[in-house]
Amino acid sequence: MLSTMQDGQLTLARLLQHGSTVHAASEVTTWTGEGARRSTYGEVGRNAARLANALRGLGVTGDQRVGTFMWNNAEHLEAYLAIPAMGAVLHTLNIRLFPQQLVFVANHAEDHAIIVDGTLVPLLAKQLPEMSTVRHVIVANGDAAALDAPEGVQVHSYTELLAAQPDTFDWPEIDERSAAAMCYTSGTTGDPKGVAYSHRSIWLHSMQVCMSDSMNLSQSDKALAIVPMFHAMSWGLPYAALMVGASLVMPDRFLQPGPIAEILAAEKPNFAAAVPTIWQGLLAHLDANPQDISHIREVVVGGSAAPPSLMHAFEEKYDVPVLHAWGMTETSPLGSVARPPASATGDERWRYRYTQGRFPANVRARLIDDNGEEKPWDDVGVGELEVRGPWIAASYFGGEDVDPEKFHDGWLRTGDVGRITPDGFLTLTDRAKDVIKSGGEWISSVDLENQVMGHPAVAEAAVIGVPDEKWDERPLVAVVLREGESASAAQLREYLTDKVAKWQLPDNWAFVEEVPKTSVGKFDKKRLRASHSEGKLD
Ligand code: ADP
Repeated sequence: MLSTMQDGQLTLARLLQHGSTVHAASEVTTWTGEGARRSTYGEVGRNAARLANALRGLGVTGDQRVGTFMWNNAEHLEAYLAIPAMGAVLHTLNIRLFPQQLVFVANHAEDHAIIVDGTLVPLLAKQLPEMSTVRHVIVANGDAAALDAPEGVQVHSYTELLAAQPDTFDWPEIDERSAAAMCYTSGTTGDPKGVAYSHRSIWLHSMQVCMSDSMNLSQSDKALAIVPMFHAMSWGLPYAALMVGASLVMPDRFLQPGPIAEILAAEKPNFAAAVPTIWQGLLAHLDANPQDISHIREVVVGGSAAPPSLMHAFEEKYDVPVLHAWGMTETSPLGSVARPPASATGDERWRYRYTQGRFPANVRARLIDDNGEEKPWDDVGVGELEVRGPWIAASYFGGEDVDPEKFHDGWLRTGDVGRITPDGFLTLTDRAKDVIKSGGEWISSVDLENQVMGHPAVAEAAVIGVPDEKWDERPLVAVVLREGESASAAQLREYLTDKVAKWQLPDNWAFVEEVPKTSVGKFDKKRLRASHSEGKLD
């Protein structure tokens, strides 16, 4: 029997219309280094209409791709809305990709136009001659004349282009299942892979972001979106904020601990989201330059494991609770969020909070072991995590076939290894490729890192497996000490003795100036392994 309910397409044009009228007064603040530029969702909506008119004028039709090469700012939000709402596809170019990867993704997505921030023009200009489908470059927040474009590419000023356009647009009816936005994963091996989100997947994901057991975003929030809009859609914050009318604070290019502390002091956001390395940096900065940040009701940490020491420091020293979450580009990215059950108290509550989180109704999960067997959810059985649901990727863009390494039976293989409690909380022990296989047993590099980072003299610790004749692999810990602190390998090893099993205790330690990071700020274990095999890490 058919239902008697109306149908309605879940599209970003609808989200734009809603947010820019109902929440017209909510603010979008962009940091300028010295102060802030201020806009509202009402203005953002009108500018989105102007941008859509301008893009049509430049020949953008159908589902053509329009790239953005931008920091988090009001203009990027306008592009986030205008491009999908007009039926085209937003392609957020990750400014931190290596040059050849950047060329690859622009060509692979067949970007017709690119909107670029003035400060990023020099970076884009170097690769532009090789981006074969790009016909237009629109320079926002900077001088268009500064770009010496290759032949066949026209350069425009964002401000001038928009000034000539009407502030309304006849947004087309779009099938909610068509592509709205795309994002390439940084690809630690092989070429980057494109994930194309649909209007429907973004809409459903935005609702999840706002739910109280997720990020609990509402119209009374002022959210500092530190996670770049060019990486995993800033964890869905821009669209979710517009949906409920939460104000947004955009840090633009000011992502160092000092400027972040200034933004906190000046704008007093009550919510923020970023990867652990940003929070570690801010913590060190605040320890040296104390500042009250208790106006923040909660910060979300994900992208890599949040060390418990970090969670305790924020909560106990600064009265700011840390919410741990897991996800990936292929999962839109929200996969799980660690909000403990109401019944948990004291240490049990903390144990839940350390986990990568609980799956929401729309994310199904299973664990598959080396023999292809499904493991029970008993918090003991360990396997590779597979997920499925309406905002989880089913394939990569332009992949000839579904990649069996990443997808099978309609499930996404995450490459993450872990266990799940009977009440649906995930604990990741590693990425499949980072697990240390020692004498037939598995050692979790993440567990070791978290324990070592609990030592007061340690600022950062990354653990990799290194070849060992007797045991196949043994852990090596690369340690960055806090400024002015000292600790020897023997002292750190001693510190671990009552924290990890004896056979897991690392014998290999390297003291380094910094841990190499990937383009998105995660420990780059591939480079650490390479340094080790070149004999530079002993
Ligand atoms: P990449 O890092 O390959 O560019 P993503 O940014 O999509 O791709 O990262 C997704 C991966 O980040 C996950 O598969 C997982 O390994 C890791 N990750 C994300 N959140 C967490 C977390 N809370 N704890 C541990 N690992 C995490």
